[in-house]
Amino acid sequence: MNKVTRRIFLGASGALGAVALAELTGVKSTFAQRGRQQINLYSSRHYNTDQRLYTDFERQTGIKVNLIEGRGEELLQRIRSEGRNSPADIFLTADVGNIWQAQQAGIFSPVNSTVLNQRIPSNLRDTAKNEWFGFSTRVRVIMYRKGRVNPSQLSTYQDLANPKWRGKLIMRTSTNIYNQSLTAWLLGIEGAAKTEQWARGIVANFARQPQGGDRDQFEAVAAGVADLTVANTYYLGSYATSSDPKRKEIFNQIGVFFPNQAQGQSGAFTNISGGGVLKTAPNRAGAIRFLEYLTSPTAQNYFAKGNFEYPVVQGSEIDPVLRGFGTFRSSNSSLTGVGPNLANAVRILDRAGWK
Ligand code: FE
Repeated sequence: MNKVTRRIFLGASGALGAVALAELTGVKSTFAQRGRQQINLYSSRHYNTDQRLYTDFERQTGIKVNLIEGRGEELLQRIRSEGRNSPADIFLTADVGNIWQAQQAGIFSPVNSTVLNQRIPSNLRDTAKNEWFGFSTRVRVIMYRKGRVNPSQLSTYQDLANPKWRGKLIMRTSTNIYNQSLTAWLLGIEGAAKTEQWARGIVANFARQPQGGDRDQFEAVAAGVADLTVANTYYLGSYATSSDPKRKEIFNQIGVFFPNQAQGQSGAFTNISGGGVLKTAPNRAGAIRFLEYLTSPTAQNYFAKGNFEYPVVQGSEIDPVLRGFGTFRSSNSSLTGVGPNLANAVRILDRAGWK
């Protein structure tokens, strides 16, 4: 695999240093050689273990994977500004909110693949236009400090707004897509008025102003800053097998609670990582082959073992660490409902004062 750039977008100023410029030149010369036997993959999946996926695909097919990594919005912006000349074949990202925004930007092209349609459950792909597909899932769960919270006190995402949790809850910011999508999903279940009330209740319960990423939330809970938070399962999963004893200790201090499990409730909010083939893809056939590869047992296993995500293909093995979190019922409503609610969700979060 030719990993031509790594995080070339780093640096909030947007100014490109000499190194980044050299990398960009490298990109150009790589793209100049493109042909049937290469695909250009724009990915915001920030997980190093994905390397193995690409090398394995290359070994199986002889198609070289050129990886361009960056943050989701930045890659999307880049694809848009490259326009018809974009060398990108595939856009892969995390969170259905990001995927929906890419779809709104009109960058995807429909893919009618029996393999994808048969292997990926219909609620985890775009059944309306066949433009995007989920290849792994992650569950946004309640994480709590063992010994300080009895899981019998926990029930739903909605209940986190209950005044009984005043000063005991922390969350990451509302500028992050993960909480935006969670709110957009709740909006689809509860409607605008109740969702706004919920968001206000959540803010009232904060032990501190929102800050940091998912890991920072449960690390702070382990450190005693708060009792509860909400985070994606794979982040905690990676702590179980960490060589850093401090991370192992944190893993042991944090309990995972799957919310909304009672009868008649929605199930735990399950999001995807996924993407699609670009309208302007120079190597459309290769790109489809790559997406199909992502649903193969080997690739599904990499998602599960490498990044502690849940595979989407039935019969794939789940990592023992995830199995240790317990069995649960997923929100199996179609994810296509989340995107259209995003803008409204963000307005609600703003009005509620969720930083
Ligand atoms: Fe993530």
